[in-house]
Amino acid sequence: MLISEQKPLEEILNYLDGEKNIFLIGCKGCAEGFQSGGEKQVLEMSSTLEEQGKSVVGFSLIDMVCNETLTRMKLKAHKRETEAADSILVLTCGIGVQTVAEVVNKVVHPGCNTLSSGGAHAEWKEAERCLECGDCMLEFTGGICPIARCSKHLLNGPCGGSQDGKCEVNADIPCAWQLIIERLTELGQLDRLEKLVPPKNWNVSLIAGPPVRRLS
Ligand code: SF4
Ligand code: SF4
Repeated sequence: MLISEQKPLEEILNYLDGEKNIFLIGCKGCAEGFQSGGEKQVLEMSSTLEEQGKSVVGFSLIDMVCNETLTRMKLKAHKRETEAADSILVLTCGIGVQTVAEVVNKVVHPGCNTLSSGGAHAEWKEAERCLECGDCMLEFTGGICPIARCSKHLLNGPCGGSQDGKCEVNADIPCAWQLIIERLTELGQLDRLEKLVPPKNWNVSLIAGPPVRRLS
């Protein structure tokens, strides 16, 4: 079970600044278990956003958002609504946010912080996607996690060493920062990289400290 908690409302509203039409996604797996993004929380968030003058154009509750095939299939049924939305607010762990960013060509906001994997790493088959930093920064990186996917865990990248889109540390994996730049370019949001991300406070994570693991 991935342990997550909702981000403070103020932070979420900052993410949504300038956007009117929002589509919500919740997860009936871990996020429901930890009350960060189950049905109740999605409905509450929908009312809160409406009170704040937003229009919630639809929502979807998916059994396991970290399952790419399932999420792709479920969101197909909401194609019209997601296309009408300015952005998608995802109330799940970081892996769920990354899954949605992968399957929908739309701005995706993380609504939760992932505190711990609780010993398991969800349904993403190919690689580790979240290192449970406790203060999700996917908002600034187009829904691609540099902590989990960059070999140097760079918060402000790239390092400048990638060759042909591959990581200089491990040529078997793509350079995460190249993926981030490509994704932000596609979304017309490259200016997000102008914000410098400060060093992380790992005390907010439930894991022991900064990552020592690396993608292989
Ligand atoms: S930034 Fe990365 S490590 Fe931190 S919660 Fe988000 S997905 Fe997980
Ligand atoms: S090449 Fe890319 S993924 Fe590899 S360490 Fe540098 S920035 Fe990170």
